[in-house]
Amino acid sequence: MTAAKVIGRDGLDELLRHLAALGYRTLGPVARDGAITMAEVSSSADLPEGFHDRQAPGSYRLEPGQGQALFDWAVGPEPLKALVFPPRAVIWTAKPPSYHVQEVADDAPPVAVVGARPCDLAGLQVLGRSIGTGPVADPIFQHRRHQAFLVVVECTRPASTCFCVSMGTGPGATHGYDIRLTELLSDDGPPSYLALAGTPAGRRALGQLPGRPAQAADERARVERLAKAASRMGRSVDTTGLPELLARNLSNPRWDAVAERCLACGNCTAVCPTCFCANFQDTTGLDGTVRRERTWASCSDLAHSYIHGGPVRSSIKSRYRQWATHKFSWWWDQFGTSGCVGCGRCITWCPASIDITEEIAALRASDGAAPTEEEPEP
Ligand code: SF4
Ligand code: SF4
Repeated sequence: MTAAKVIGRDGLDELLRHLAALGYRTLGPVARDGAITMAEVSSSADLPEGFHDRQAPGSYRLEPGQGQALFDWAVGPEPLKALVFPPRAVIWTAKPPSYHVQEVADDAPPVAVVGARPCDLAGLQVLGRSIGTGPVADPIFQHRRHQAFLVVVECTRPASTCFCVSMGTGPGATHGYDIRLTELLSDDGPPSYLALAGTPAGRRALGQLPGRPAQAADERARVERLAKAASRMGRSVDTTGLPELLARNLSNPRWDAVAERCLACGNCTAVCPTCFCANFQDTTGLDGTVRRERTWASCSDLAHSYIHGGPVRSSIKSRYRQWATHKFSWWWDQFGTSGCVGCGRCITWCPASIDITEEIAALRASDGAAPTEEEPEP
């Protein structure tokens, strides 16, 4: 365990230079197109100084602020999923005349992320248990996750849509990072950053940075900021017996109510850090080469439930129920973890303002309600 250190903005700049010198493609949060998005960054001047986000069901606003804080916002629309599970990837090719199948080795350069959130780290861990391990582990995920360098910045300003405290994933970070930063604000100067290494690579990087040894007062300031953030968490979910609650309420009439609002647009699955549905398509080029390509898909899409002659989830109700029940119930059976990390993105980016925390509370309130007539499904 390395001793914690307090660095300033010059330390952040040095960290970005150090990561670039090591050959990382370094991504960080930037204010772009009215949102916090992930883009290549080379200096702290690229980071969203003074910006705050304002989130609500179906609503996101990025507002310029007054201060010099760089991380005084919650989460943008992009989870880290795309870095390790790309939206489009060629899996294998087969060339004539043998048509021997050749797996395509992933050659993406190593990526460093400066400014990941604790719920983002948790999302990567959930994805790792889902697609990154076992006999059919995804080699792209494994390659990219293995070479990634992650600098997490703990959350000190949660959005109204966040519920990471309920899911045990934030606002502090306990593991899964190379370096952990906590932005400490000052009344009369720029913020400083309490930094702690979580891996040998993080320790080497931290050793290069200018700064001073952390004092007990710095750790106290961190604990206070995290406690304040936890107390300002916008939403909560009662997770008591949640997998069982969902599993025994497949016929609850609440699913009909939410289906009347759901547009089956797939936004909730696209922004979710753990959703991993995919389609596979084979195409043949003019030279006869066959390529198998994997693209992101969504369980809210009718076509994604199509098997041997027809869709198995023909109604929006059945597809929304599949998404929610998988996240909070069957994921435990399959992967031994929740499929939700409480980032709140599916609430903010739902054009119909559907709020999964509200849906779960409504199911709990109507636990065991008389079933409605089901559409025929296998
Ligand atoms: S819940 Fe919202 S985001 Fe998800 S498919 Fe329905 S309308 Fe789209
Ligand atoms: S289900 Fe919603 S709140 Fe949970 S991890 Fe996915 S996007 Fe975030």
